[in-house]
Amino acid sequence: MGSSLFFRHALLPTGWAEDVGISIIDGLISAVTTSAPPPPNAVTQPGIALPGIANLHSHSFQRAISGLTEYRDAATNTANFWTWRDMMYRFALAMDPDDVEAVATLAFIEMLESGFTSVLEFHYLHHAPDGGHYTNIAELSSRIAAAAAGAGIDLTIAPVFYAQGDFAAAPPSPSQRRFISDLDDYETLLRACEPLARMVIAPHSLRAVTPEQLSALTGLVRPGQPIHIHIAEQTAEVEACLAWSGQRPVEWLRAHADVNPQWCLIHATHTTDDERAGIARSGAMVGLCPLTEADLGDGIFPLRDYAGAWGLGSDSNIQISLAAELRMLEYVQRLHYRQRNILATTALPATATAAYQAACAGGAQALAINHGITPGAPANIIALAGDAPDIALAQFVFGGRQLLTDVWVHGTKRVAAGRHNLAAQAEARFNRVLHKILERT
Ligand SMILES: [Zn+2]
Repeated sequence: MGSSLFFRHALLPTGWAEDVGISIIDGLISAVTTSAPPPPNAVTQPGIALPGIANLHSHSFQRAISGLTEYRDAATNTANFWTWRDMMYRFALAMDPDDVEAVATLAFIEMLESGFTSVLEFHYLHHAPDGGHYTNIAELSSRIAAAAAGAGIDLTIAPVFYAQGDFAAAPPSPSQRRFISDLDDYETLLRACEPLARMVIAPHSLRAVTPEQLSALTGLVRPGQPIHIHIAEQTAEVEACLAWSGQRPVEWLRAHADVNPQWCLIHATHTTDDERAGIARSGAMVGLCPLTEADLGDGIFPLRDYAGAWGLGSDSNIQISLAAELRMLEYVQRLHYRQRNILATTALPATATAAYQAACAGGAQALAINHGITPGAPANIIALAGDAPDIALAQFVFGGRQLLTDVWVHGTKRVAAGRHNLAAQAEARFNRVLHKILERT
């Protein structure tokens, strides 16, 4: 079925355009007109149209612990990534399938309300709390898919392979029992996930897989299918990798796998100039998660000194906000380099606009989907209030103004006047689940 939208301003792959008509058939953009009258039967929209951005890295269940780990443990007087991970594991062990679905539903609704139209769920919570398999090995993946369908977000699922506790075949800890699989189970899981959503292959990290397993996983990747891995997020991980192999994580990966444009390296925070140049040359990309990396005290990826592609992930979902991710990304670079407007380019001197275009292209590369307001791409579009495009986008990103009005996914409006129609219901359900989990842990 066809429909058309008409905007005074829209951000196209070529930049801003005026009087833009967008024709949509079966959820895909079939035609785009510029500087022309509205197409027949077009619905004229107020404001400014932008392409939806894909959130390339989410662990939706972690939305449940947002705000619960922001304290220092009095007994140990330490607070770092690893103490955070202990708390996160406690929650991971306490959630049943209904909990997982309820939390994911709210997280996906919040993503839509913030302007993300697609999400890649990096999903490693597979098994029952005792580590036994559910009757359907993809029970929890199917709950993620149900949550995405309920919210109306475009889902890519990354069934995660996780086999060992650390480098050098360290046995997994009991608290990792819900993540663990062997290669046979993983292939069964992939087959079971196939009907649920678009899929990518996902070794959890170099810590969690052996070299032999990594090579088996790369053998499962289909032509054009992405492969995602956490890498070099923490200095302790870099040191452990050096002790194990004599090489740093990205260095090791590039020496032992065909790292090509299908790869998305999540974080890649602790990398040398050579490693970053190698990523850029390979055509692979990095998945940056600015709010999570700041919240966890990970470190800074020096984006000015990197020539390759990048995209944004909300990762731990400490906060779900496209604008806040873009703002944190740019601000961290400013603090690092003691300069301003790092992400602006010669072609796009308006920083928010340049960052938005890059994040949009990177998100699409990470999910291997078409993007942009252009024929053939999915009709994933967001609208901001305003009539001065660069200024409105900068107010949205840097000014914290709630300018987002409408969100369409595959041509269906999911957010109107800034609100998803299931948000209140999903929040109430989330609060009940959170209360229940807190009583249990
Ligand atoms: Zn992650």
